Amino acid sequence: MRSTLRALFVGGAAITVLCSLGPRGAAAQTPRLEEWKRQVVKGVQARSRLTQQIVDQIFSFGELGFQEFETSKYLVKLLRDNGFTVEEGIAGIPTAWVATWGSGKPVISLGTDIDDIPKASQVPGVACKLPLVEGAPGHGEGHNSGQAVNITAALAVKELMEREHLSGTIQIWPGVAEELLGAKAYYVRAGVFKNVDIVLYSHVGTNLGTEWGVTAGTGLISALFTFEGKSAHAAGAPWRGRSAADAANLMEVGWNFRREHIRPQARSHSVIVDGGDQPNVVPSKASIWFYFRERDYPRIQHLFAVGDSVARGAAMMTGTKLASERILGSAWPGHFNRTVAETMYANIKRVGLPEWSDADQTLARAVQKEIGTRQTGLATKLSTLRPALREDQRLAGYADDIGDVSWNVPTAVLSFPSNIPGLPGHNWSNAISMATPLAHKGATAGAKVQALTLLDFMVRPELLQEAWDYFRNVQTRDVKYTPFIRPDDRPAIELNRDIMARFRPAMRKFYFDSQRYDTYLEQLGVKYPTLRAADGTCSIRGGS
Ligand SMILES: [Zn+2]
Repeated sequence: MRSTLRALFVGGAAITVLCSLGPRGAAAQTPRLEEWKRQVVKGVQARSRLTQQIVDQIFSFGELGFQEFETSKYLVKLLRDNGFTVEEGIAGIPTAWVATWGSGKPVISLGTDIDDIPKASQVPGVACKLPLVEGAPGHGEGHNSGQAVNITAALAVKELMEREHLSGTIQIWPGVAEELLGAKAYYVRAGVFKNVDIVLYSHVGTNLGTEWGVTAGTGLISALFTFEGKSAHAAGAPWRGRSAADAANLMEVGWNFRREHIRPQARSHSVIVDGGDQPNVVPSKASIWFYFRERDYPRIQHLFAVGDSVARGAAMMTGTKLASERILGSAWPGHFNRTVAETMYANIKRVGLPEWSDADQTLARAVQKEIGTRQTGLATKLSTLRPALREDQRLAGYADDIGDVSWNVPTAVLSFPSNIPGLPGHNWSNAISMATPLAHKGATAGAKVQALTLLDFMVRPELLQEAWDYFRNVQTRDVKYTPFIRPDDRPAIELNRDIMARFRPAMRKFYFDSQRYDTYLEQLGVKYPTLRAADGTCSIRGGS
């Protein structure tokens, strides 16, 4: 059913493009496409100030997953001001939206994440740990840069499409709560991608790159196990109580014993989010949150089932009840499209890495030194196109819910160099570069590649055909997508609400004011780069 529809859509795109190119059709497009590509690259370069502003603005909002209210308000306005139609509150998620511009086929969709990391607040451009607001969240993953890449690219291509009267639709959306794997499976369920031909996703990295086939990472189910016991005076009548906290603890202990007897490729981790209130009250309620990671759908489901049995055992041992098992997030292991990745990589080679200044390299080496990793500086050689990995080569543990999208539409991920190589990830040090010239240049390079690839898929119907051929006949020949989220599951939109409410008043004072300042570094009074002082102190004044 799906494939027949796709074939029609792709056919439709072909007709539209041929018409727009005039009677000589596709054969005439090569010299013209070359000229269009030059114009689009120029269009991105001409918007480098906008790119920088978006990077700096979102950095300054520093919002956690599902609480990206300022970020989304800003982006929705920016897109509407630029002629996009924006639908908000997608899939029952208040901070999710889908923006569209243009008409007809093909529909090319640009996505990238917007949420950040707990306790990663950091003054940008300063090469040592210096929180902007102590204990607050911050962009220690660099998700403040992707929308700058996608929106800049879209505006450059839109300008060309308007001038040349090209048909086609550009869609833009945010990865809400990616750190919680919280939204994209719900976007799929809500039909966000049902008319989409290609998804071009972007994610911050340390080089310009992309890959196809199965990724090095995992997929996962994130689930909250809640136990219910009975409260009692913990000293006066402990025998009358049943401790839910005991059950949460025993689930963790049980899981850690069981861990030895699961495949080494699996990853799992947990935090106790509710361990009771105070010691003299036997805890009547407790919750423990697990991520179960494995390499494919059946193994992830199996791991979750083992988790369920351990939870039931813990409840039985403690005379408590396993009250609920809530899925808070999920992700399919990604599989990226060969044609999309190869097209993207040709554009990566065309654009090349940014020219780093001495200041960029000095910052990078100083941060690498601070973290105790090799002082290689920034990448000066392009990464190669990574083809499909064999099972035994898949060593990384991370996951991204773009995986769910990749099993529904041909998708590839553009990695762009706005961060520093060798850092731990999900850490304050990963935030240091993210509102500096280093990040701005990386985002402009990324936007050029994204714009060129967007244009390729807008005007080359044969590429759409080839991408769908890979999707249907290679990728999904033996594996079919079934979401991890169950019909009754709902997005966990209440997550991070309290944390954000606690820190937002202090963070608000540091929101980027692009009317008054050119850059966020200027607003903060940070000299670029600022290094740790000779006496070992870390401050905004740095060493002199
Ligand atoms: Zn990420």
